[in-house]
Amino acid sequence: MDFLISQIKGIGTRKEKLFYRLGIHTVTELLQYFPREYEDRSHVQRIGETPAGAAPVLICGTVGMIQEVRPRRGMTILKMVLSDGSGAVELVWFNQPFKKRLFKTGMTLSAFGKIEWAYGRRQMNAPETEPGPVQGSGFMPVYGLTDGLYQTDLRKAVQQALKIAAQHRDIVPGWEGARQSGYSVMEPLEAYQSMHFPVSMEEQQRARQQLAFEELFDMQLGLLLRRRREGLQQGIKCAPNGPLLQSFIRKLPFALTQGQTDAFLDIQADMEGETPMQRLVQGDVGSGKTVVAAMALAKIVENGYQGALMAPTEILAVQHYEEFRRLFHGLPVRVGLLTGRIPAKEKAGLLDALRKGTIQILIGTHALIQKDVVFWDLGLVVTDEQHRFGVRQRAALRQKGRAPHTLFMTATPIPRTLTLSLYGDLDVSSIHDMPPGRKVVKTYVVGNTMRRRIYTFMEKLMAQGQQCYVVCPLVEESETVDLQAAAALYDQLRISVFKNRACGLVHGRMAGKEKEAVMDAFQRGDIQLLVATSVIEVGVNVPNATLMLVDGAERFGLAQLHQLRGRVGRGNLQAYCILLSKGGSEETRQRLQWMETIHDGFVLAEKDLLLRRSGQLFGYAQHGLPDLKAADIIRDVSLLAAARDKAADYLKGPVMEQTILEALQRRFGAAFEGLLKN
Ligand code: ADP
Ligand code: MG
Repeated sequence: MDFLISQIKGIGTRKEKLFYRLGIHTVTELLQYFPREYEDRSHVQRIGETPAGAAPVLICGTVGMIQEVRPRRGMTILKMVLSDGSGAVELVWFNQPFKKRLFKTGMTLSAFGKIEWAYGRRQMNAPETEPGPVQGSGFMPVYGLTDGLYQTDLRKAVQQALKIAAQHRDIVPGWEGARQSGYSVMEPLEAYQSMHFPVSMEEQQRARQQLAFEELFDMQLGLLLRRRREGLQQGIKCAPNGPLLQSFIRKLPFALTQGQTDAFLDIQADMEGETPMQRLVQGDVGSGKTVVAAMALAKIVENGYQGALMAPTEILAVQHYEEFRRLFHGLPVRVGLLTGRIPAKEKAGLLDALRKGTIQILIGTHALIQKDVVFWDLGLVVTDEQHRFGVRQRAALRQKGRAPHTLFMTATPIPRTLTLSLYGDLDVSSIHDMPPGRKVVKTYVVGNTMRRRIYTFMEKLMAQGQQCYVVCPLVEESETVDLQAAAALYDQLRISVFKNRACGLVHGRMAGKEKEAVMDAFQRGDIQLLVATSVIEVGVNVPNATLMLVDGAERFGLAQLHQLRGRVGRGNLQAYCILLSKGGSEETRQRLQWMETIHDGFVLAEKDLLLRRSGQLFGYAQHGLPDLKAADIIRDVSLLAAARDKAADYLKGPVMEQTILEALQRRFGAAFEGLLKN
């Protein structure tokens, strides 16, 4: 049973909606809405020894002269001096005349606020005050807010939630399984209390450590359970490679790289095993993952089954289809293409052939998961750019076969330390090398003064028949502003600088069809210069595009910049990536400098770990895993390893699966499904 937040005193329908915006619907969710930071009210600081500009502090002193000034109509300023033996500070309130009656010269007053320099004086602007000396009151939580909600709203609501939880212990997240593992010393409720209103930071850290462990334990338990269930299924046991696969490899127009060979050896071993394959192949853009997928598909066909390859966009699906047609040319394998654009009549024929088994490999977009798509006998499902699909979509395709093998592909490299947490027990093959002859994309970080020269250089490339991308920055929180900026730049380029070139614009607000029309035109070469907001389709292959200009590069993360750079350098021509930057913090400079010197996505991913917080890390949320509340996937890697070991031990004992599932459902709510079916 759970309590809705509307059942908390003081939360009416208006505030309820604001809490929803923070993702808080229930008291349990509120308990897990942990503070971003804490205000230190644990002790009174000496006024003279407190530096200006630091965090808010608690001070206590004697009120000196009180002054009210009215510099102009409708404006009042209330000022007073507060001093203790060590020094003095001026307290100031603007337009709060009613405050005046709260104070008297000579009284003892405690104030909490930030000391800042203003007009040559040390001031505290609109502090919270209380008459008399105060005891240190521990630490006050500071929560992430939304417009219309204040810290006091959150603090009061959490206080109430803790009271409700004291009466109804069953709503406190967590359960015996996680707690028995030795990491939990505090009572569950006590741990939540200490996270929200800690008496000391040591106490808060103990609580966080415990809750983080329990959370990671539950997450790993879910992943292990998932793996175990799959392991219990009988997979399609393939025979050793036969003539079809051998001629496929012999007919390849190139030699496989070591990385490709190794990845396929892993796949081959999985497919010849007893249980269904669950493998992720990760490799940088251009490392040649498609051929590896094609070999896996050839193998399943050779064993008398069908295979499916799902891509996130129509353009990519068509690209794969064309490549497959070339790769399988002259071999007895029929490949079909199914996207939303296939005409009804053609589609009917295709579906019929699929049902009869005369089409062995079906490539397509998420159109593949439609109900009317029925396979004769589906034995392998490949998902390209897997993070672009939802958990449900991936599962839906798999359900079209009986325990088919599954292969995921991703160009977003994940550092080794993180594969465990993101993929649980998915087996991972990494392709670290590139096909030979690939030129390094020359990368330069430049300032705005270079803009003209860059345009001249682009003009030169386009005059030679090559194509360019210009990516505009993502201005945070306002897609409209982004769009305006991109549109303005597009107009400027199209009308003046590149008026002799065919220019195009793509952005996130465009309808799918419109967007694909522009991308198609770029791919055909009808558009030479493509201006885009940061939405350039993942995986698009335009070998003739040789320059990527990222405007406002300081606004992009490493992973994103690397993905963007991957759009060029896909052919034999020398390619360039120009990062136009206004400069910025030390961190920004470091990031851009790494882009200049490091070209390996895996190494960049490791660097990214050093810079970024887990929330943004390589689109963690996109992996369909639950949001972590107490744990931090980077900071807590060692805790994670421990949680995993303990979870594995736990599963070895006499466990009640139903109990575990209920506990996980309680903790993860809607994300629970993602955890159990990937
Ligand atoms: P990605 O890993 O980004 O999906 P692709 O599979 O699209 O990469 O491969 C990129 C290009 O490299 C394709 O044109 C493909 O034909 C080519 N390619 C793949 N493997 C090799 C290889 N071993 N040698 C040479 N070219 C290759
Ligand atoms: Mg690809």
